Amino acid sequence: MKAPTVGFVSLGCAKATVDSERILTQLKAEGYGFSANYEHADLVVVNTCGFIESAVDESLDVISQALGANGRVIVTGCLGVKAGLLKKKFPNLLAITGPQDCDAVMAAVHAEAPPVHEPFYHLLPPGGVKLTPRHYAYLKIAEGCNHKCTFCIIPTMRGRLASRAPSDVLGEAKSLVDAGVRELLVVSQDTSAYGVDQRGRADLATGRALRPHITDLAQTLGELGVWIRLHYVYPYPQVDELVELMASGIILPYLDVPFQHASSRILRLMKRPASGEDNLARVHAWRERCPSLAIRSTFIVGFPGETDIDFQELLHFLRQAQLDRVGCFIYSPVTGARANDLPEPVDSGLAQARFDELMAVQAEISHTRLRQRVGRECMVLIDEVTEAGAVGRSASESPEVDGVIHLPGVTGIQAGDFVKVKISACDTHDLTASLIEV
Ligand code: SF4
Repeated sequence: MKAPTVGFVSLGCAKATVDSERILTQLKAEGYGFSANYEHADLVVVNTCGFIESAVDESLDVISQALGANGRVIVTGCLGVKAGLLKKKFPNLLAITGPQDCDAVMAAVHAEAPPVHEPFYHLLPPGGVKLTPRHYAYLKIAEGCNHKCTFCIIPTMRGRLASRAPSDVLGEAKSLVDAGVRELLVVSQDTSAYGVDQRGRADLATGRALRPHITDLAQTLGELGVWIRLHYVYPYPQVDELVELMASGIILPYLDVPFQHASSRILRLMKRPASGEDNLARVHAWRERCPSLAIRSTFIVGFPGETDIDFQELLHFLRQAQLDRVGCFIYSPVTGARANDLPEPVDSGLAQARFDELMAVQAEISHTRLRQRVGRECMVLIDEVTEAGAVGRSASESPEVDGVIHLPGVTGIQAGDFVKVKISACDTHDLTASLIEV
């Protein structure tokens, strides 16, 4: 008997990707096949994003396409918490489940397309089913968030911080490394807060007393001998300990710190974690301790109440901090977020002008930072090899969000190889290099 096939669409952030991988791994383990199109699938699962209005629109669009082409659709993920809205818009959905609810998705799939018990199908690739290339993988260390940033509804959708046990994280990390992963990207909503919900209770499951704390976890992951890259790290005091690990070469000297703004007034209106910190002083101190540190951040412009003075403060911060990589969003209201009630909304034209100005300022900074690397040597992890050459990244570039390093004419190596290169040129976001050693 032929195994049922599932069409799967994964939308949203890296955390949602990890949820998708968990569901796909379970489906594969139970013998389900995957369909490359809606039409030939027995049913379709859509893992949605509900973070900002454009993400909600994209999710609704995909659900509508899946219903049109297939008709049998299960919705999961962040938008699943708005079951009322979904039911009203799409009364024919088979089931709606919330974020990180693999069990509920599997129950819905079982009810609609029962698995076929065939031992052949129970062969699972080591490390599970990955949506990223084989040589890097996201490692989710916690769910949820204890903060109440006024522009965000993630705590409502994903609940309070729930850290995974260190032994659980380590077990997954080991099996990913055994499966060939060379770079682990540690993600959660608030990576520096990892373990605070466990109140220091040691995890003895591996025969070692593992403290649920981000410094200890990073150190232990660093022993696996692959690149460990941290994302979504808030500037709490314990980040200094992480920078020590970076300076010692235990984890990559890379910090993704979502500052979101530099004006303390706006940060207070946003109710950002660690908003009282002197972030500029911290950036300088981190760089002093670890000169090779690359810092990535994201910012929001046009937040309600943002004055020209606030915006100039943000530009001043960027010029002083000389961050390596910056993403920027124009504020847009999210249904259910408390920031919607704040007075003094910023005119959309003005917000766009601020966005353009910030991106122009950062483009110059990025170019300057990259120019400083020309002539230097570094290790590169290869992401892709074509007839024209190879493309990879150094410790300073995270996949999908930062720039890349082009190695023109370099073939005969493979994705996942580490090579030593010398940087020869740069543009605003990317670098070009020549191969020194494979
Ligand atoms: S820290 Fe703030 S922005 Fe991030 S998930 Fe928590 S509430 Fe949302």
